[in-house]
Amino acid sequence: MASSNDVNVKVAVRCRPMSGKETQMGASTIVGVQDTMISIRNPADDDIKKFTFDYAYSVDSQQTTVYTDVARPLVDQAFQGYNGTIFAYGQTGSGKTHTMMGSGDDHGIIPKMNFDLFEYTTSTATPGRVAAQTDVGTKYLITVSFLEIYNEVIKDLLNPSDKVLKIREHPDMGIYVEHLAEVLVVREPSDVSRLIDEGNKVRQVAATQMNERSSRSHSCFTIKIGSKKIETLGDMTRETAMNAKINLVCTSSVDRLSVDLAGSERAAKTGATGDRLKEGAAINKSLSALGNVINMLADRSKKGHVPYRDSKLTRLLQESLGGNSLTVMIAAVSPADYNYDESLGTLQYANRAKSI
Ligand code: ADP
Ligand code: MG
Repeated sequence: MASSNDVNVKVAVRCRPMSGKETQMGASTIVGVQDTMISIRNPADDDIKKFTFDYAYSVDSQQTTVYTDVARPLVDQAFQGYNGTIFAYGQTGSGKTHTMMGSGDDHGIIPKMNFDLFEYTTSTATPGRVAAQTDVGTKYLITVSFLEIYNEVIKDLLNPSDKVLKIREHPDMGIYVEHLAEVLVVREPSDVSRLIDEGNKVRQVAATQMNERSSRSHSCFTIKIGSKKIETLGDMTRETAMNAKINLVCTSSVDRLSVDLAGSERAAKTGATGDRLKEGAAINKSLSALGNVINMLADRSKKGHVPYRDSKLTRLLQESLGGNSLTVMIAAVSPADYNYDESLGTLQYANRAKSI
């Protein structure tokens, strides 16, 4: 049983299958998965490195398995009032969107979770399901929001405009994004799917305009669950309210070359300050801030200041990282030899996030 101070960080890694194109190119597989262990072979010298995580998913892992292992527990916890966050991490093309959103009808975590939440609320609210307590009614209010962080600027994906949104803090409400659209989820799970599609279309439009922007911005889909339980005990009526948030985050990554470039003195001296450089620096800032925060939380021996304010992403997730909340990181990797550096980097990043 976890004590109230225990932070629950779970790390999963998923290797996507080789693409048809990669197979055609003659790429070879350098990643292997066995139980919770993942191994990666350096194609240059055949050196093999091994990492163990809470979950390791091989090329033939199914969406349902991933969902049941890492996401479903967050739904159960949310109904107990605990916040949760899942974030996907990995190089472009490693399978983040596949895992979080899905590909076509092969639904990922976000649509599956929305479906589950809908089922959960409708079934629990059915009087027959709360057999032991008569006169009990639970009302649920579920809202969703969807935003993007690009170059440390927050944009609303459900209510697109040029407006730059600000993170604010309220004494009662906590941290929130001012003017962010919160859409009520009323009836059908398909309503949510439609919202996601619209939000993603917004990202894609921006993408063609702005150089594959979607793969260079972080997105955060937040589900807020509020419930009010009304119990009648004799003449008395008792009302219990509960609120919880689940954040589903797709981070973008930047290839390590541009990270190095963005951070290098040389780049600063030569005045190489193009858009790409700025982007790389912003992405890197969020990712390293997130890594530092998770590392602080995961390492029980570390006490003191958690650097939430170092990036928009960590500031936004502050209340959902740490405390009694559940945090899940899913590191996505490619199986192919030519992605060795990136895959190793991803595994090392994930390794830092493990609970110690
Ligand atoms: P990312 O979002 O990290 O850039 P994607 O999720 O778009 O990467 O994945 C790249 C491609 O690989 C897509 O065509 C996707 O459908 C496919 N893919 C990724 N992961 C899997 C998987 N586990 N099984 C089957 N196809 C996958
Ligand atoms: Mg993607």
